Amino acid sequence: MAGANPQDRGRIALFPLPFQGHLSPMLQLADVLHGRGLAVTILHTTFNAPDAASHPEFAFIPIPDEGVADAIAAAKDGISKIFAMNDAMEASGCVRDALAAILSEEPRRPPSCLVIDTSLVAVQKAAVELGLPTIVLHTGSAACTRLFRSYAMLHEKGYLPAKEHELDRPVKELPPLRVSDLFDPSKYPNKEMANKIVHLAIETTANSAGIVINTSEALETPELEALRQELGINGTKVFAIGPLHKLSAIDSAASSLLEQDRSCIEWLDTQATGSVLYVSFGSVAPIHRDDFTEVAWGLANSGIPFLWVVRRGLVIGMEEPELPDGFELAVDGRGKVVRWAPQQEVLAHGAVGGFWTHNGWNSTLESIHEGVPMLSRPLFGDQLANGRYVQDVWKIGFLLQGKLERGRIEKAVTALMEGDLAAETRERAKELRTKAMMCLEIGGSTRRAVDELVDHILSL
Ligand code: UDP
Repeated sequence: MAGANPQDRGRIALFPLPFQGHLSPMLQLADVLHGRGLAVTILHTTFNAPDAASHPEFAFIPIPDEGVADAIAAAKDGISKIFAMNDAMEASGCVRDALAAILSEEPRRPPSCLVIDTSLVAVQKAAVELGLPTIVLHTGSAACTRLFRSYAMLHEKGYLPAKEHELDRPVKELPPLRVSDLFDPSKYPNKEMANKIVHLAIETTANSAGIVINTSEALETPELEALRQELGINGTKVFAIGPLHKLSAIDSAASSLLEQDRSCIEWLDTQATGSVLYVSFGSVAPIHRDDFTEVAWGLANSGIPFLWVVRRGLVIGMEEPELPDGFELAVDGRGKVVRWAPQQEVLAHGAVGGFWTHNGWNSTLESIHEGVPMLSRPLFGDQLANGRYVQDVWKIGFLLQGKLERGRIEKAVTALMEGDLAAETRERAKELRTKAMMCLEIGGSTRRAVDELVDHILSL
């Protein structure tokens, strides 16, 4: 799609959050808008910087402040990094300076607006000071956008902090969620930050000229309707323009922060159709060492062929995760382990019949749009609600909750891949894929939403 329309209808600037699950959809959105004739400038941190050489059609502007990169690198976990980044950017004024430079750049047109990730409050403040309107990109689902807007209610009504005996309690205001599906800040080591994180998106959304969500009407009509009602009071427009990875022509390798190991595609070529379980827990969340061992032996004992992504930092306390003794011999020829996979290509491969996932929203969307059923093991944040939707709304997989233990894993993996239940789930996954892909056709809801978004941007 990039370059489809060479006319410069105007300029747009975008500022991604520098994590894989946020960076990819922002670059994909940039590509979609570029394809509609808008010139694109990407502002970014030097931490986890996008690869400018892979996107010659965009202008890239790194934020020239080492303090920001140092603050991000020094923070221990994802939530702390977001606050460290915002604080450092606000303190130094570096984003304001960069935006001011873009606004006065000659002979380029100034951008008509800045698209930001929901949590980049400091970037929005800088834009507001300069009179530049912002649009917020939500890289999660519409259901999670609503959920995170409901934290005051969830505390008021006693759903949170979660009580052990109430984990199964339905959250009747947000069906089909249960208390166990709620990210509970009180369980997080840094409770104060965890409490604040859900409010960042409320703040940026309230101060924006519209929100873009990487979802579609096919997947979330009731959630989008509810969100439009809630936000419509303030006149905030909602654009459901997902799935961005299918709408954009950007190759996944071009937005990947890690090098993809393509040997797994050759290995998949040698496996029987629909036989392989793909296992990945995303780019950020770590798992405990005991859980890692149980996953390894559960996969080995299941007898199911598998492709498992074991990235650096996946296991708490092991920078380079080491597989248990005897594991490689036990799975020889039947199991393949890689550091990082070309995930979209893997899910699209005919040999893959199931996905054991942490249900990050990108992984969930990528699986849905290849018709691959899921075994859901959410670890954190919005993944918990995504897993519930996989099981109870779309019915294209099921949750593996409770303690990870090799015997339970073996059973769950086998249930996803073999037998009557597996066949039914696979059938529903194929049906949902067909329905979801229709949004992308000409006249489909996603295409219409992109048209409306472009008109909206040009009207700002
Ligand atoms: N991904 C990948 N290779 C891997 C594992 C993940 O390319 O081996 C990509 C995946 O396709 C997805 C992103 O990393 O686009 C992960 O985003 P998601 O929202 O699923 O989870 P997060 O990493 O944010 O927890």
